[in-house]
Amino acid sequence: MSPTRTRVSRLALRPTIGIDIGGTKVAAGVVDVDGNIIDRTRRETPSKSKSAREVEDTIADIVAELGARHHVLAVGIGAAGFVDGTQSSVLFAPHLAWRNEPLRDAVQRRVRLPVVVDNDANAALWAECRFGAAQGESHVVCVNLGTGIGGGVVLDGVLHRGRFGVAGEFGHMVIVPGGHRCECGNRGCWEQYASGNVLVREARELVVNDSPVAYRIAEACQGDPRRITGPMVSALAAQGDPAALELLEDIGQWLGVGLANLAAAFDPGLFVIGGGVSDVGDLLLEPARTSFRRTLTGRGFRPEATVVRAALGNEAGLIGAADLARRERSRRRDRAKLVTTRLLLPRRREELTHSASVRRNTRRATTTGTGTAIEPASTRRGNGTWRRPTTS
Ligand SMILES: [Zn+2]
Repeated sequence: MSPTRTRVSRLALRPTIGIDIGGTKVAAGVVDVDGNIIDRTRRETPSKSKSAREVEDTIADIVAELGARHHVLAVGIGAAGFVDGTQSSVLFAPHLAWRNEPLRDAVQRRVRLPVVVDNDANAALWAECRFGAAQGESHVVCVNLGTGIGGGVVLDGVLHRGRFGVAGEFGHMVIVPGGHRCECGNRGCWEQYASGNVLVREARELVVNDSPVAYRIAEACQGDPRRITGPMVSALAAQGDPAALELLEDIGQWLGVGLANLAAAFDPGLFVIGGGVSDVGDLLLEPARTSFRRTLTGRGFRPEATVVRAALGNEAGLIGAADLARRERSRRRDRAKLVTTRLLLPRRREELTHSASVRRNTRRATTTGTGTAIEPASTRRGNGTWRRPTTS
């Protein structure tokens, strides 16, 4: 191996920082090449009333803390919001002060490391495809139920961000015209019927109306509906409280309706359901599966997608952001020469037994465009190190 290649390999083995900026918390970690988190930290998300600069301060502070302990290669940021097609600016973040915020360059100047920005749900989906529940599946739709609903799409192994970078905002598909008002300004968005916020809103309504069925929820919040949280309702459901179970079932049913709509649009083989609400597992997913099958176009005459829970939990966003940063770093270094834009699936992986097929695959992927690249799994070694595909 030439000295240059050895140096490049060592560089590429360095961990990357992943930062997941959600509506309430900023979770960050140092992630190795195999998707393992080797160090972590977290902060409160600066409130919507705070300036964009304060969010940057938080990010810079995190990078300083983790960077002092690890020799990192790059920084990936997964943000809850619309990220533009060049993955440099956050166009709009419903839960933050960002409006057309040139986040990548601003942070890059401050932390002096390569930075990539992507939508948090794209980052989470990326992690599930690389290291989690969607490994080996070519057509995946990810739906994350948190404060709202985020989502992402992988079709034929490629992460689809859309022409303007804002694909996968499933939470704002209008599913009940004239329904509940949404923060986005519309009415009847899907996330007003199937998200963590809905769980809280509905539980509060029961308690406010002094409903006898909600006595355990009222007990748990000590009679103060403002104290009700999603995890509180989920915990009661797990203990078998009928009211909490009913609320989760309602959300599950709406989830299934939305999934059927997404199946009509994308025809995935797998739906990965993530986000805090999915922690209850089948209490949510069983009603979702039932309602999905009942609503699916052409039901009974077509193969059906499987609906599974995400495997990486609430750390998927930061793991994916870190891996996307590694990917972008490699792409920039190699000037797109080695960019593959497809996930390598098991069948293809087996095909890649000699360098000629690697070369063919690399060439095809290079011509695919600027989509996100994934390191071919076949080039990774058993000891966790990887080598780039041979190109000559
Ligand atoms: Zn909306």
